[in-house]
Amino acid sequence: MSRLLAALLVTLLAASCSTVALTGRRQLNIVPDGEMLSMSSQQYGEFMKENKPSTNAEQTARIKRVGARIQSAVEEYARQTGHANDLAGYAWEFNLVESKEVNAWCMPGGKVVFYTGIMPVCRDDDGVAVVMGHEVAHAVAKHGAERMSQSLLVEMGGAALSVALQAKPQETQQLWMSAFGAGAQYGVLMPFGRGQESEADHLGLIFMAMAGYDPHHAVEFWQRMSKASGGEKPSEFMSTHPSDEHRIQKIQEELPEAMRYYKPR
Ligand SMILES: [Zn+2]
Repeated sequence: MSRLLAALLVTLLAASCSTVALTGRRQLNIVPDGEMLSMSSQQYGEFMKENKPSTNAEQTARIKRVGARIQSAVEEYARQTGHANDLAGYAWEFNLVESKEVNAWCMPGGKVVFYTGIMPVCRDDDGVAVVMGHEVAHAVAKHGAERMSQSLLVEMGGAALSVALQAKPQETQQLWMSAFGAGAQYGVLMPFGRGQESEADHLGLIFMAMAGYDPHHAVEFWQRMSKASGGEKPSEFMSTHPSDEHRIQKIQEELPEAMRYYKPR
């Protein structure tokens, strides 16, 4: 990295670090929420036009059912912690698309996509709740905005999102898709960092518990995921989740806290 770029990074970091409202961690964010939301609904619309929704009515209903419960839990959690404003402008959608990829993601504004390839690993509503809680946590903790900010700095010299989009529409779109784990094949950086992953695990456990799913199912889910990913070329979802043993251990340590939020159905 050039010295100039490093200096620029330091300046921008100092100027635009904000705090993840829900966790208190400092993060870089140079993209205004409004821009994130409009880019999100546009890119989500494009994605849904280009991809085939699953024809499996039962599994599609499962995604929408679990999604609605996780949504209520997140809204409740945001109210309780005084961060209801963070969800302003959200228009939740939960869709299942036809793809062999073992993947799922959530864009800002609550635009959630599951790929049919992850359904056998999820197995049932509890497994879907693990993934849904985790992916929604990435979105509400603004991890995608953080990654998009990093990408704009590193790849586009710190350009504003709207400027980058006009100057290099395709590159910007690819950066966007990889920022949300929807296009890892184009990704330059790793999908999500370790800190973001454990933040998403932690919040995800709380969200699923509040939604009425026993968070203990997260341990079984990650054990199944660990087996499923053995040897294969990992999808974005799997490749973002290294060191399964460490993750499972950390989840186990966090279970007592999550259980305090658990409201059995
Ligand atoms: Zn993740």
